[in-house]
Amino acid sequence: MPIRTWFPTQIYCEPLQKTGLSRLNAEFAAECRQLRDFDRAGRRWSEKNYPGGYTSYASMNELHRFSSAFAALEKKLTRHVRTFARALELDLRGRTIRLTDLWVNIMPPTAAHSLHLHPLSFISGTYYVVTPPGCSGLKFEDPRLDRFMAAPPRLPDARRENQIHVTYPAEAGNVILFESWLRHEVAANRVDEERISISFNFNWS
Ligand code: FE
Repeated sequence: MPIRTWFPTQIYCEPLQKTGLSRLNAEFAAECRQLRDFDRAGRRWSEKNYPGGYTSYASMNELHRFSSAFAALEKKLTRHVRTFARALELDLRGRTIRLTDLWVNIMPPTAAHSLHLHPLSFISGTYYVVTPPGCSGLKFEDPRLDRFMAAPPRLPDARRENQIHVTYPAEAGNVILFESWLRHEVAANRVDEERISISFNFNWS
């Protein structure tokens, strides 16, 4: 082939563990809902900044220090992040990676999360706890979008790797990891049940 692909954008998606996911997620769901009941400051912040939903992003974003369930999750996530970092061939020899923030997102019907990235981290991601059928996925944007300028649009049936967005369905039990500079969003939840996820950032030093 005369054409080869360079500078790929890599996204990792894998079940958190091989077995026991439904029990684990039932426990996490209860813990996340308890947190919402308990976290008055977070509910107040969410009213303004996360309309219709609840996030502990601004109030309780170090949940791995807060409960043993989240601390156990930190351990498992760290293993996935190491695997991803190895695949990205990041030179972390003699370095340590560390989970810096871990927070809960509960999206009832209509709640959305507009386009954003995660500053001050190198790998970010989400773990899915409750994903009612038909709930919104995680939509990523081509990081070169602002450079396309005069480029024509892509054909509607362009190959996946040539399209400018990709949406990963939200599936309970899955971990999705991406490099923190990659912009993403969650469209408004259009199903009746709550969608629950746990998001996190990793840094290195
Ligand atoms: Fe995010």
